Amino acid sequence: MKKPDAQTYIRGILQGDRRLLAKTITLVESALPADQVLARNILDELMPFAGKALRVGITGLPGAGKSTFIESFGTMLTQKGYRVAVLAVDPSSPKTGGSILADKTRMEKLSVNEKAFIRPSPSGKTLGGVARKTRETMLICEAAGFDAMLIETVGVGQSEVAVASMVDFFLVLMIAGGGDELQGIKKGVLELADAVAVNKADGDNKTKAEIAKKEYERAFHLMTGPGHEWRPPVVTCSSLTMEGLENILNIILEHRQKLTESGRLQLKRKGQAREWLKFLVKEGVQEWFYGSPAAGELEQSFREVEEGRITPATAAAKVLECLKGQKF
Ligand code: GDP
Repeated sequence: MKKPDAQTYIRGILQGDRRLLAKTITLVESALPADQVLARNILDELMPFAGKALRVGITGLPGAGKSTFIESFGTMLTQKGYRVAVLAVDPSSPKTGGSILADKTRMEKLSVNEKAFIRPSPSGKTLGGVARKTRETMLICEAAGFDAMLIETVGVGQSEVAVASMVDFFLVLMIAGGGDELQGIKKGVLELADAVAVNKADGDNKTKAEIAKKEYERAFHLMTGPGHEWRPPVVTCSSLTMEGLENILNIILEHRQKLTESGRLQLKRKGQAREWLKFLVKEGVQEWFYGSPAAGELEQSFREVEEGRITPATAAAKVLECLKGQKF
């Protein structure tokens, strides 16, 4: 079957046609070179219509309550008139089985809400590839009129850095745990946080959550230090009772206003765009390298270097020599 042309996709997206929106995202996620060219053409034309949404990244260890939070917070946003897109970056997740991020079955209310659009993490071999697809999907959703992006990721690896580099606000969800260690959430992840929310602050757990909040506040503020334009707050919330969710939205809006007024939001987004460009070039060159005869030479060189027959520097020069005259 013949695919629609770029203009058909673009028109459909700008009119908020969900079927064409989903189809365009499929193009973005496709590995076929022809699909990728078409997706890039569509994206280029949609760019002027993107960029106006609240972009919020959400992370937390499995069980912290991310999907419950997104279900409740996203529903609240739609009640306030926002159109919400829920996306995810999870390189470990195949599309079926296991605990999938941005999974419709885990967000029952939101998945049937006509003001919401949920898309699970794209699959892919590399984190960079997965993150690129999610980032492009975010831009397409913005052009389709969605004005709040909730981008979910897991709190254990490098994916947070990728998500933080595509959103304006990064929220870390925690729960009250034993002791004052930060529940395996890596310090690097907390450094990315614009706010920390201690979830499940309800019922018997409320007091524990308040205590945890104080502990995290102390640990966190030691890390961030004074003198920053934005001092990330630590709050409690319950995704079950909705308590504290409105407060989180207000924090996100206050952050946005502050950064907009100071010009930092634009700077942040410009910096993110630069980083993405650099990243995509690097990834492209790497892919090219590993598909070229130089990659074979590299494999050979490992043994020679290990056995001390040549130095790494000479081996590297030999490998790079193989690239000369190679077509990209
Ligand atoms: P995720 O793995 O981070 O997506 O966590 P889930 O959203 O699947 O939540 C894990 C478990 O915690 C589920 O059984 C939820 O019902 C429960 N849960 C999530 N948020 C809350 C909350 O605010 N309060 C309480 N009491 N339970 C919650």
